[in-house]
Amino acid sequence: MLTLPAFEWLRPANLDDALAHLANHAAESLVVAGGTDAVPNLKHRLHEPRWIVHLGRLDELRFVRESEGALSIGPLVTLSAIARHEGIRRDFPSLARAASLVASPQIRNMGTLGGNLCLDTRCTYYNQTYFWRDALGFCLKKDGVRCHVVPQGRRCVAAHSSDVSPVLISLDASVDISNARGSRTVPVDEFFVGDGVHNNVLVPGELVTRVTIPAASRGLRAAYQKLRPRAAIDFPMLSVAFAARVSDGGCEHARLVVSALGAKPRRIGGLDALVKGRPLDDALGEALAEAAYRQCRPLTNVAYDDAYRHEMVPVFVRRAVREAGGIA
Ligand SMILES: Cc1cc2nc3c(=O)[nH]c(=O)nc-3n(C[C@H](O)[C@H](O)[C@H](O)COP(=O)(O)OP(=O)(O)OC[C@H]3O[C@@H](n4cnc5c(N)ncnc54)[C@H](O)[C@@H]3O)c2cc1C
Ligand code: SF4
Repeated sequence: MLTLPAFEWLRPANLDDALAHLANHAAESLVVAGGTDAVPNLKHRLHEPRWIVHLGRLDELRFVRESEGALSIGPLVTLSAIARHEGIRRDFPSLARAASLVASPQIRNMGTLGGNLCLDTRCTYYNQTYFWRDALGFCLKKDGVRCHVVPQGRRCVAAHSSDVSPVLISLDASVDISNARGSRTVPVDEFFVGDGVHNNVLVPGELVTRVTIPAASRGLRAAYQKLRPRAAIDFPMLSVAFAARVSDGGCEHARLVVSALGAKPRRIGGLDALVKGRPLDDALGEALAEAAYRQCRPLTNVAYDDAYRHEMVPVFVRRAVREAGGIA
């Protein structure tokens, strides 16, 4: 049986107390929201903190609000609350869908938006017990010096595995980040970095305090498609988020994000020239599928064949475009 390591348990009563603790002890602390990813990782000794800082009492981070058309969601809102929220289902159906496809009902009831956004990257050589990793000599993400996926590489290429983040990028969402000294806002598109050791811009002592979808993203034709081994409970081995502004003159602009392949979601480039003025139909789906296939390079970072995942990229892009276009 895998047991938890010893730690001190902290449940700050408000955000200021949480940030004050992190200002002095960030390096020795692990923030936990729903705990659905952090707890298994603790059991695998992937984190060895002195303090667990549980955010559960921070009611100020649990809200869904509309203001001047923009939608703000607190990081402690659970995935099941997002999946069933009437306004989100109506205005941002791809977000509700992505949340509804995470793991299983029990995990969605505990798992939060903030935890999903800040989810640790995953890799065959990392999400293992201490004993297993020790036998292999560890790897550069934790306790070792070598990457087993790209042995000559200097950067970890573990897979970004959050379902909700690619959709937030496709909807041009931003994230508010706070520490004891103040706050900053970062587009979700710039929140992730291409290093699987720590694949986001949060620095020690910072917390995600809000996610905002701008009013301008209302009315987009949007979709989310996910490839996973078991529909009942599995991380994505490939995910595709798509959103387009369509008017009588055809597509005005579009965003296509492919994820679960490398350490950060990949926004497919050169889309505006491809979609401008064209109807959202199968021909456009084919053009986008080809562009995505050319730009994506899956690695052997998760336990599924990289060539198969590559071949599935155009299939899932076509499906996403069909879903967004309402094509049966
Ligand atoms: C069997 C299984 C299957 C899963 N399948 C999926 C899946 O299909 N798709 C998917 O996306 N995820 C999946 N997950 C991972 C996880 O359950 C979800 O991503 C969930 O949303 C994580 O939220 P949480 O609140 O439980 O995060 P936690 O486990 O509490 O935290 C996760 C990370 O986020 C950080 N964090 C949490 N909140 C904040 C904050 N406000 N500010 C800064 N950092 C913060 C924590 O420090 C930690 O590093 C799965 C997990 C399991 C165990
Ligand atoms: S990609 Fe390489 S460094 Fe990163 S977790 Fe996997 S084996 Fe370790």
